[in-house]
This record gives sequence, structure tokens and C-alpha cells, in this order.
Amino acid sequence: MSITRQKAIESAIQHRASEEPVLNRGHILEYFGQNVFSDEQMRERLPKAIYKALRKTIEEGVPLDYSVADVVAAAMASWAVERGATHYAHIFYPLTGLTAEKHDSFYSPDGKGGLVGDFSGKQLIQGEPDASSFPSGGIRATFEARGYTAWDVTSPAYLTEGRHGMTLCIPTAFCSWTGEALDKKVPLLRSMQALNKQAQRVLKLFGHDDPGMISASAGPEQEYFLVDRSFFYARPDLLSAGRTLFGARPPKGQELEDQYFGAIPDRVLAFMMEVDTELYKLGVPVKTRHNEVAPAQYEIAPVFESANVATDHQYLIMQTLQRVAPKYGLACLLHEKPFAGINGSGKHLNWSLGGPKVGNLLNPGATPHDNMQFLVFCAAAIRAVNKHAVMLRGSVAHASNDHRLGANEAPPAIMSVFLGEQLADVFEQLAAGGAKQSKKMGVLTVGVDTLPPLPKDATDRNRTSPFAFTGNRFEFRAVGSSQSIAGPLVVLNTVIADSLDYVATELEKAPRDPKKFNLAVQKLLQKIIRENGRVIFNGDNYSAEWRAEAARRGLPNAASTPDAIDAMECKETYEVFAKYGVLSHREAESRFEIYREKYIKDVTIEAKLCLNIARTMVFPAGIKYQQLLAQTVAALSAVNKASCTTTLDEVDGLLAELQKAVQRLEQVVVIPDGLSVKKQCAYLLETVVPAMVETRRVADALERVCADDIWSLPTYQEMLFIR
Ligand code: ADP
Ligand code: MG
Repeated sequence: MSITRQKAIESAIQHRASEEPVLNRGHILEYFGQNVFSDEQMRERLPKAIYKALRKTIEEGVPLDYSVADVVAAAMASWAVERGATHYAHIFYPLTGLTAEKHDSFYSPDGKGGLVGDFSGKQLIQGEPDASSFPSGGIRATFEARGYTAWDVTSPAYLTEGRHGMTLCIPTAFCSWTGEALDKKVPLLRSMQALNKQAQRVLKLFGHDDPGMISASAGPEQEYFLVDRSFFYARPDLLSAGRTLFGARPPKGQELEDQYFGAIPDRVLAFMMEVDTELYKLGVPVKTRHNEVAPAQYEIAPVFESANVATDHQYLIMQTLQRVAPKYGLACLLHEKPFAGINGSGKHLNWSLGGPKVGNLLNPGATPHDNMQFLVFCAAAIRAVNKHAVMLRGSVAHASNDHRLGANEAPPAIMSVFLGEQLADVFEQLAAGGAKQSKKMGVLTVGVDTLPPLPKDATDRNRTSPFAFTGNRFEFRAVGSSQSIAGPLVVLNTVIADSLDYVATELEKAPRDPKKFNLAVQKLLQKIIRENGRVIFNGDNYSAEWRAEAARRGLPNAASTPDAIDAMECKETYEVFAKYGVLSHREAESRFEIYREKYIKDVTIEAKLCLNIARTMVFPAGIKYQQLLAQTVAALSAVNKASCTTTLDEVDGLLAELQKAVQRLEQVVVIPDGLSVKKQCAYLLETVVPAMVETRRVADALERVCADDIWSLPTYQEMLFIR
């Protein structure tokens, strides 16, 4: 075995987790949220009137008065300093999909050789990082590089704890000096406002005079892989691209199905427990942890929260997973497809809407009246997916998710809705009932009146649908494991707000008389289902029949990121974003530009890596083995032994193919001059990606025959099964 691999294996086997117990912190109820500037902290530290004003902003979306913010900020700072913080940081969420932070000290020199605390409320509320290096898609030229960060009061501030100190982190929105959104938080907050406004209109029609603020809720399930760090560092592709660009399939993959919900290995469990503890301290309500389907694959899921807070917490989950892993000698892979041939990772995004006064609006009720309201919200979601499928598809499009969507263990790139048998039946009755309406008025009402309470956990769970109703929420399963949930949430909130607007506008015209109103609702439901029912599909989304059927139904199917972005960039998308004040035309346009540029960078980096590894690791191993075989053949024929040259011929052949593939990749890897950003994406997809696939095909074939001691890249078997 090659020295690199041997060392990696040894260090993997010898790894011992630190003896220091992590859970020596007392009772979970004592440390949960201990690093959060929580509601409790605010109530204790703020004057009553200020506290009340702040709650009003958080709960009802009332704009925050600047003087209130100033007092809150001062209290926040003194809390942080008491806890030992020396610095504060505005955390923002640029369009790179990562988080960004700039730290400033709470202290300055006092001019006499000492330090003095110099922070004002203002500084904490608003910051001005030099923003010229963040992607803006042309919105902000570098000469007008001002970017502003402003505290998002609906997301709590928290302290990050290192061995060497504490930092106060303030979640902020990030915009240009012209007020245009440069980040993922601004549009998310705007989309939540739009959803709130339209949901209120619908609820008023159903007799809720004061429904309170309606918020989108999100519960993201995060899948990830863990591999030993020694392998991670011995694989340049994992290190720089987050996925393996080479690697023959091991004899054992996931076919035994012995991994899903299996016993969690000790080292992994220790890691998970520390991750949970760190997240608890930050007030992130993580709840579930288990083995996933593929070997070395796991999941962590929090309890759902308001979409905005859930988004900030989701970033913290990803960060914490990656931060804690090295302590256990592990590397955490968040890429959608780190290993070919076994399952990829998604981030199932559970979504609903509701509020303290009205509860979860996607919860089927016990009475026909509640059911009617539920069906209206449900139908609005169905209409939204049908009308704006390209936006949903676009919101999950990025280079790494291309390896997952449409592969046969992941939801396809075709957006459809799974309702479950019972609910699908109700909607079918509704759609059919219309025809008989004049004859037999009861038919429609029957469909609604007798809707039995749906079991919360619908028994017929469909794991293949990209957008599934799961009893009291929708689960958007096409979201990728590495991406921020902000983008998909912005789209969901916006398109559903649009449908609720449609519903409200129609029903506001209906007579108030309850009977007549009910009839109007039924008519509208029927219309929505007739016009949008083509997106409902309860069968196997992985099947070829569905692809054909979906094409017959005229559903869009953008298989790649470039196609998905092109499809999303249409009149309807611009209109709906602008209509609900979520993204202006310029803001939306800049985003398409940024996402295309990101695709170009991602694929180009992979192509260069692929070339590099093929040339410096795969090819050299191949010729060493070739030489060995050739020497053997020569030695044997020197002593007149008939020697069989089959293996040598095979290796010769593969090496010739490899050279050809590498040459081809080398030729195409540099994007020709003069192509638009859009054309560059198409070029990479059509020319460069196939050249990489071909290089890998030959290299993997070579790995299968090459002497094991010559092969220097850690194998799939080693990475997936040594824990
Ligand atoms: P699954 O069986 O789909 O893997 P999990 O328990 O792993 O289910 O995750 C389900 C997720 O859905 C959790 O994060 C849960 O809090 C979330 N969820 C439940 N109800 C809602 C809701 N009303 N809105 C948003 N998310 C919800
Ligand atoms: Mg789960």
C-alpha cells in the first residue's frame, strides 16, 4: 500500500477522542441558550417600555424606533462584556452562500497607555464593512463600495465561544448605500412580510378579525458525511472541491441497507454530542440525530422555528459541524455528492406558515370550517408550485446539487407536489364535483365536510417527491445540503404570497353570507385544482415513466444549473419578485449574474483539479504499474517462459485512453474568449463537464486493475468504512 494511504489508515485507526468529557456542563436546561442575548436577558436588562416596544417589533413586525434600538444595543453590549467578550461582529449573509463577519474590539486606546471601552448603541446597530469584495452582480461598483449592515432584531444576538475568548455576534442585513439588497437576509425578511400581509387577508375572510402576525416556519434537516481527516488531507479533490473527482466503486456500498438508523459508531456519537452541546449553548433547538442511508452519512435536524431565525440557526449548524469535526479527527463534508454511486446529501426543508393566535395553517382542522381554510392554504401552495416551478427549481440550482438532483436516488429536477392518498382524493373530488354542481349541490360540500382528520404522520410517505405534503407542512426535498435555506425560503414565501393574494382577491368579491361564501370557496378551490392539478403526482418520482408523463403534462424539467437559471430568469419571475417588494428587477438580475458566475468558478476549479490529479497522481501510478508488468514480461521471456501479456495490454490501453482524456480536458478547460456569462455556463456544461466525466471513467478503470501499493489516493472503501 502507498505510504500516504498507509499513514492515513494508521492515523485513522489510532485516533482517540479527547478524554475530557464535553458534557460536564451541568443540566441541559442550564446551558441551553446560555450564550444568547435571549428574551429573558432582555426582560431583565431593559426598561419595561423599551422591552415592550422591542417585543412588538419581533412579534408584530412594527418598525423599530431608533432610540429603542440604541438602548437595547447598550444593554446587549454590557451583557456581552460581562460575559468576557472583547469584540463584536456583525454577521451577514452575502451571496456567496457563506456567512461573513468582521470583528471590532469594544475597546480603544485612552491616550494614556491604557484602554477605554468605546462602543455606542449606534455602532452595534449599524456597521459599514468595506464590501467591495463581495459579489454584487454589478449593483455596486468598487468605487461606490459602501455596504451597510443593520441589526435584524428578529434574530437574537449571541456569543461565540473559543478557548481564547468570546465574540458578540449580531445577525445583520446587508445592503448597498442605495438600499439594494446585497445579501440573503434582506429578501428573506421582505418575503416574510409579503407572506404575512397576504395570509392576513385570507384569514380575515375566514373570520379572524385579528389573526396576529403570520410567520413562515422552517425546519431544515441537514445531511452530511464524516470521513477521517487523514483521508481528507490525502485527497486534493475533497480538500478543494468538497467531493471526490475520482474513485472506483467499492465492493460494498450501501446495498446491504445496514446503515440507515443503524447504531452510531462511538467516535461519531461523541462528535454528535459535542455538536449538540455547542448548538444548545447558542439556543439552536437541535432535536434529531441519526445514521443516514449511505455509509459514513448522518443527519441532524432542529425543531422548526420562524423562517428567519431558522435560517441563521441553519448557518450555525453547518459551521458547528465543520468546527467540531477536527477535534474528533474527522472532516465534515456538506457537499451534495461527495461520493459517486451512493446517496448524496440534501437539506429537506420543512415549511409551513402560522402564528400564535391561529396555529399552523397547514394543519387540517377538526371541523369542516377549519378544513375549508386549510384546503385554501393547501391549494394556494399547489398553485404556487405550478405557476412558479422554475423559481423553485432555480432556488436549488448550483453546481454541486447537479450531481444529486435527477440522479436516481434524489428527487428529480421536475417540480411536482405529493399530497398523499387522502388529500389527493379530496382535491380530486373537488375538481370532479364541479361538473355535478348544478344537479347535486351536496357533492362538493361532501368532499370538504367529511374530510376526516388527517393523521399527522401520513402513512404513505413519499420519499421521492421534491415537494411533499407531510401531514401539517410541506417538505421541499430538492434543497441541497451545502446551500443556505434562505434562497428556497425567499422563493417559497414569495410564490405562496402571490397565490394567497390571488385567493384573497377572488374571495373578497364573494358575498359575506356564510353559505354563499362557502360555495364561492368551493368554486375557487375547484378552479385552482383544475388549472394547477398537473403538478400533483403521488407516484414514484424516480421512474422513467414519470419523466415521460411530466413532459406530457408540460412540466418544466431543467436538468442542470445553467438550464435552471436560464428558465428562472423569465418575465414572471421578475414580476412576482417586484410585485411583492422582495427583489427589484436590478436586484434579481444581479443575482442571476452572481449564480452563473459561481457556477463558472465551481466547475472551473473542479476541472483544473481533475487535470491536476489525473496528471500527478493517477497517471504516475499507472505507468509505475505498467513498468512493473513490462519488467515481468521481459524477465519471463528471457528465461523462455511463455508470458501472458493480457494485464499489460489492458494497462497500456487504459493509459493511452487516459492521455487522450487528459489532453482533451486540457484543451477545453480554458473558456474561449468573448462568451457571455450565460454562454460560458453552457460551454462548461456541454464541453468541460463531459471531459471530466471521461477522465474519471478511465482513471477509475485504472484504479480497479492497478497494484494497490502503487495507488496513492485513499480509496472509497477506506474513506467510507474506516471510522
Ligand atoms: P423526517 O421524518 O421527515 O426525517 P424529521 O423529524 O427529521 O422528519 O424532521 C422534520 C422537520 O420538520 C423538523 O425540523 C420539524 O421541526 C419540522 N416541522 C414540523 N412541523 C413544522 C412546521 N409546522 N413548519 C415547519 N417545519 C416543521
Ligand atoms: Mg429526518
